[in-house]
Amino acid sequence: MMRVSRLYAPTLRETPAEAEIPSHQLMLRAGMIRKAAGGIYSYLPLALRILKKIEAIVREEMNEIDAQELLMPIIQPAEIWQETGRWDVYGDEMFRLCDRHKRNFCLGPTHEEMITTLVRGDVRSYRQLPLTLYQIQNKYRDEIRPRFGLMRGREFIMKDAYSFDRDEAGLTANYNKMYTAYTNVFTRCGLNFRPVEADSGAIGGSGSHEFMVIAESGEASIVYCPACDYGANVEKAELHTIVPQQEEMLPLDIIDTPKMKTIEAISAYLNIAPQKTIKAMAYQNENGLVIALVRGDHEVNEIKLINALGCIDLTLANEEAIAEAMQSAAGFIGPIGLQEVMIVADSTVMEMYNAVCGANLPDKHYIHVNPSRDFKPNKVIDIRLIQENDPCPHCGHPVKMARGIEVGQVFKLHTKYSQALQATYLDEKGKETPMVMGCYGIGVSRTMAAAIEQHNDEHGIIWPVPIAPYHTVIIPINSKDEAQMQLAETVCKALNQENVEAILDDRNERAGVKFKDADLIGYPLKIVIGPKTLQEQVFEVKVRRTGEVIFLSLENYVSEIQNLLKSL
Ligand SMILES: [Zn+2]
Repeated sequence: MMRVSRLYAPTLRETPAEAEIPSHQLMLRAGMIRKAAGGIYSYLPLALRILKKIEAIVREEMNEIDAQELLMPIIQPAEIWQETGRWDVYGDEMFRLCDRHKRNFCLGPTHEEMITTLVRGDVRSYRQLPLTLYQIQNKYRDEIRPRFGLMRGREFIMKDAYSFDRDEAGLTANYNKMYTAYTNVFTRCGLNFRPVEADSGAIGGSGSHEFMVIAESGEASIVYCPACDYGANVEKAELHTIVPQQEEMLPLDIIDTPKMKTIEAISAYLNIAPQKTIKAMAYQNENGLVIALVRGDHEVNEIKLINALGCIDLTLANEEAIAEAMQSAAGFIGPIGLQEVMIVADSTVMEMYNAVCGANLPDKHYIHVNPSRDFKPNKVIDIRLIQENDPCPHCGHPVKMARGIEVGQVFKLHTKYSQALQATYLDEKGKETPMVMGCYGIGVSRTMAAAIEQHNDEHGIIWPVPIAPYHTVIIPINSKDEAQMQLAETVCKALNQENVEAILDDRNERAGVKFKDADLIGYPLKIVIGPKTLQEQVFEVKVRRTGEVIFLSLENYVSEIQNLLKSL
């Protein structure tokens, strides 16, 4: 029987100053993790129990779709990374090391190279496909600024899976199975999440979904439709071009707008809606200055702009660069008459009538700007960020925004790695064909932190039952009272025998201290054994999530507790 007096969970009264977000603060305070170095943590017994539970759910769902578990080395030779060219591309995020013979290795940030070179050695025939393999293991990324505890660590636990198929149809089938398995994993962990369409980013390939746990502290902005199942990372979200009502095009004119440098100022000054203005943002990349145009009430989606320009780097231009390239002042930039500067316009801008924009002269704006008539951008594409209440790209219903924590991602890799690494098989006709691959990750340690971000209050953590370190703590009000202690032990034993994980707080502490620690650690239930229990054969059960108090009789309580846990 586990006793709190023996439990290695050193709780803290004060919130450590270095911790910024609830999961980091609460895991330190609840004695679940301790920092070894920036972004590198020890998992203490309570945290390890939670991780093991998440891993067990992941394993069950992976085995359910016939994925087979294996374990690959953490230390990977440089050669396989050189074959795909990622040894150089990965940059400073990769932990590199050298053995005594001066051979280069890295600590695996991911395992596409390792698994593909493994499989190419053994899989030769179409009869050996499809094949899906996974592992649960530490991963390493030397983040420039590790922070937020387990949320952005340099060492973290991941489940990574890889599928190998004969063709695209096989990949799609495997991708869909994995998508369903991920949905089951996060549902079973008790998390409120949404799968969203994602940018496939540096890993390559097209077709990807991220699984986002909805939480205020999330780093990602997502957009979702309450009417259909559409969801996307805002950077990826598809957009409709907004076409306003047609107007008669008035002649272009220039007016004085002293010190009116912002959209708000110019709108107020001219008494027009921001939708009638054009916002010009000046950026700088390796090729020079870029002017991005969006409607006054919209923001630039910099990811889409970077993709459209095909550039590596993009930063906002400073005042000097703007002055030098355009003889203009920030706040009065506009596209009309601009020479030798790249202009990228959002497609909604090109539909506007009689709009207002900067005139590239201090304290001057153009009015009655009709983009289709008055200037010619180098590119017209969707570069605005989707906003709340924009029409859903699938069904037209107004979309909603939320913040999310990415806990899983599924990718279609197609033949990116199998081609680079010559992972081929012989098809039915004996023809050498590259395997078609997918890769699928779940951040296991991050899922634990995300669960806390979503489930906490001012007293501490509120674990969803399926991943709680223990289901219930049993608290004798007075540990010096032998009768209370004996009864508490009996109850604890009885529950554990029926697979209700109970821990006994036998410490010689005031009841208030025990309650506080229990709330901080976040056990779903507290069972209180006091003088009343002995007199009336009734004990009190407190539900952590709702604060509800339930009285149970000493007869038949095990099944009552089991039912209560199921209902949470
Ligand atoms: Zn919709």
